[in-house]
Amino acid sequence: MTVLTLRALEKHYGSIKAVDHVDLQLESGEFMAILGPSGSGKSTLMRMVAGLESPTAGDILVDGQSVVNVPPQHRNVAMVFQSFALYPHMTVRDNILFPLVSRKVPKHEHEARLNKATSMLGVEDLLDRRPNRLSGGQQQRVALARALVRDPDLFVFDEPLSALDAQIRSRARAELRELHDQTRITTLYVTHDQVEAMGLADRVAVINEGRLHQVGTPQELYNDPADLFVAGFIGNPPMNLIPINETTVAGIRPEDMLVDPEGDVSNVFIDLAVTIEHIEYLGSEWLAHGQAQSDADTHGQELHVIARLPASSHPDFVSGQKCRMVGQRKDVCLFDRASGKRQARAEVPA
Ligand code: ADP
Repeated sequence: MTVLTLRALEKHYGSIKAVDHVDLQLESGEFMAILGPSGSGKSTLMRMVAGLESPTAGDILVDGQSVVNVPPQHRNVAMVFQSFALYPHMTVRDNILFPLVSRKVPKHEHEARLNKATSMLGVEDLLDRRPNRLSGGQQQRVALARALVRDPDLFVFDEPLSALDAQIRSRARAELRELHDQTRITTLYVTHDQVEAMGLADRVAVINEGRLHQVGTPQELYNDPADLFVAGFIGNPPMNLIPINETTVAGIRPEDMLVDPEGDVSNVFIDLAVTIEHIEYLGSEWLAHGQAQSDADTHGQELHVIARLPASSHPDFVSGQKCRMVGQRKDVCLFDRASGKRQARAEVPA
């Protein structure tokens, strides 16, 4: 069942199209991340779903009903923001119960719902404290309990983990996913952090300049980027993008670049003479950064390329050294240079 539908959704601020004709569907129980760089329209999109902004055009349906004219407090959408926005003068208990009080949920239901939400988040022992006596991680769990107590149709998160320290962020990420697995509440999760999006979500919607570029599982985005933007955004470092003629750009992942391969390599598609600039050691792997001269019409411009090598390979390159970087046809995605779109495999010469 589809819980949320965005239909040709638009939001303009003067001449800026913050959200530009977005079509999207979330199925029941799904965890979807909206991923894009700063200023790409993520928050605007989310604020329209929550009812904090009205669309310039298009429609938003929750369970098949348009909610565009429904005020936020009457949408059964629970939001968790970057700043947890707990009420400082209230205890944890009153913070969590607040959505029930403000929505006039009968009092006899409060205790059971409070208990369920607090035990799921493990904050039962904090009920009498004020928010300023809580750690960042505890505040986040209380904010989640407050969102959960409403039993919402839809959870909307706006970068909920970005205020946390890096150390507890990865644990908070795991907890969030566990919570989702327990509750199966349909979730829309906004982030600029691809590690969060790829690690948490069932599907990721990549947005840039207000437009959706691709919606897919993390594996689909990584293995089959739909266009040059996604290819150059997903992955750390992202795909090497190498112009191979006037109309086509070849994309290849750093781990698929073969450096000075020994023996014959089959189906060579990319073959670059590279000057190593530096080698970066990352514990489990090395990144070899280099400059290459592309075969194509790059107007003599040098091309930056990166190869990823396993830690066990102990590369002995030094800066300035020349090497060969080779890509096989099976590992290459081709894109149309003008439109940025992926070329269908059938169009591509073997
Ligand atoms: P993100 O959440 O991806 O960082 P936003 O949705 O906040 O992006 O912003 C998308 C675009 O809309 C940006 O260019 C931003 O400057 C513009 N924008 C957002 N809110 C407003 C506003 N209230 N008034 C004018 N421009 C806005």
